[in-house]
Amino acid sequence: MIDYHVHTSLCNHANGSMDQYIRCAIAAGLTEICFLDHLTLHKSGRHMSMPPDYVPLYYQTARRLAHRYKNRIQVKVGLEVDYEPENVHTVQKIIQPFDFDVIGGSVHFIDQMNMVSSKDTAARESEHIDIICNDYLLLIEEMIENMDMDIICHIDVFKKFGRRPSAEVNTRFDALLSKIKHHQLTVELNTSGYNHKLNEFYPSTDLLRKCVEKDIRITLGSDAHKPQQVARHFDMAIDLLTKTGFRTISAFTRRKPYDIPLTARRHEIPKIQNGGTS
Ligand SMILES: [Zn+2]
Ligand SMILES: [Zn+2]
Repeated sequence: MIDYHVHTSLCNHANGSMDQYIRCAIAAGLTEICFLDHLTLHKSGRHMSMPPDYVPLYYQTARRLAHRYKNRIQVKVGLEVDYEPENVHTVQKIIQPFDFDVIGGSVHFIDQMNMVSSKDTAARESEHIDIICNDYLLLIEEMIENMDMDIICHIDVFKKFGRRPSAEVNTRFDALLSKIKHHQLTVELNTSGYNHKLNEFYPSTDLLRKCVEKDIRITLGSDAHKPQQVARHFDMAIDLLTKTGFRTISAFTRRKPYDIPLTARRHEIPKIQNGGTS
């Protein structure tokens, strides 16, 4: 199995070296781990991102470790890029000299409001959740049109603090998922949501079903900010993906996706091997 979304201490708000993450991935029985550290130019989020001039060090360290561990696990390297319309070209210039395996696109900010930080709770709660969701979905749609990327990270992250939008707002996901399919992008099943208020992965089971209907690729990531969080809740995630109808998940080499059978880590997960539990 693979974990395609882990952070490192380079982004200033996660703990652990790349080496520690890789060792945890090997211990968890993974066949691949992909670093997806933050690249955020947004002025409210810069301090939670690796500075752009660290990108060469980040890239080279990951490639060096990939070589060192090549007989035990595949180590990939990508970035979780924050979408901001005015910074698309600057980001492109930062990324372009490197041969990343994958680029993930995220929306963490609506103007100055951080959607994922408890520090911005007051600002978020002063807005109706439908307004926040509509603004968020507009940015995701724009990101798909404007940014060169492979994976949409934590697509329904707006539910992190427990509020859900109305059914009317949810209908917008049909068009959004069609756009994702049209652009041949991969959706990420991000297991970190299970540690927050709703104990639910991103995306929800309902959205996962729609992804299956539209034949959209899926990948899997823990969004680990500590080495011990690598592959968190993966037994449950694999079980859910299988029950929802997925047969494969996507991994990437130098921006090209390929399929991995969902059964790949079954021998590591007794619950699944015994026929699965919910
Ligand atoms: Zn994120
Ligand atoms: Zn992340």
